[in-house]
Amino acid sequence: MTRLVLLGPPGAGKGTQAALLAERLGVPAISTGDIFRRNAKEQTELGRRAQQYMDAGEYVPDEVVNAMVADRLAQPDAAGGFLLDGYPRTTAQVEELDGMLAGAGAGLDAVVELVADEEEVVGRLRRRAAVDGRADDDEAVVRRRLEVYREQTAPLTDLYASRGLLRRVDGIGPVEEVTARVVAALDGRA
Ligand code: ADP
Repeated sequence: MTRLVLLGPPGAGKGTQAALLAERLGVPAISTGDIFRRNAKEQTELGRRAQQYMDAGEYVPDEVVNAMVADRLAQPDAAGGFLLDGYPRTTAQVEELDGMLAGAGAGLDAVVELVADEEEVVGRLRRRAAVDGRADDDEAVVRRRLEVYREQTAPLTDLYASRGLLRRVDGIGPVEEVTARVVAALDGRA
């Protein structure tokens, strides 16, 4: 049983690593950002509620995110484990996730922090903006996303470290090397 959380600033490579790791571990990767973007594209009610926040680089309100994640984790494919990419991001979301897992008699196995410095992630997001055209990769929005991350999400690493769950992994380098580092960290080899 594998229940994992991936933490890290925008541009640290969470989405890329989440897909590769989930495949390897045989659990679904649950990316809140992807779910919001899909809903925004399809103009669902959820998408309409999230879009304005995403475009501004702000976090979607906790109650919206929490309800969405609770629904997703209740689906059968997540019963055998999951890899959460982009959730939790606030201390209120941590508490909510604790509650969801306690309700299922479960707990997290590990929280992986992908570490990448600000210069690196800004460069990566600038390149991604040119390729993918994601509205929130606009330079000013990126600055705001990093600020929000520093204020609201970075403190979660201390919180999970105090629970003995945190594994810090260097997110700089070739994709497959980073994946290998995460796998090693999860095996307790790093
Ligand atoms: P990144 O982490 O690179 O900023 P994501 O694709 O993970 O990008 O998320 C995109 C946007 O979706 C965020 O900027 C935010 O608006 C929204 N979002 C995703 N996950 C959450 C969350 N757990 N809480 C609040 N907002 C979220």
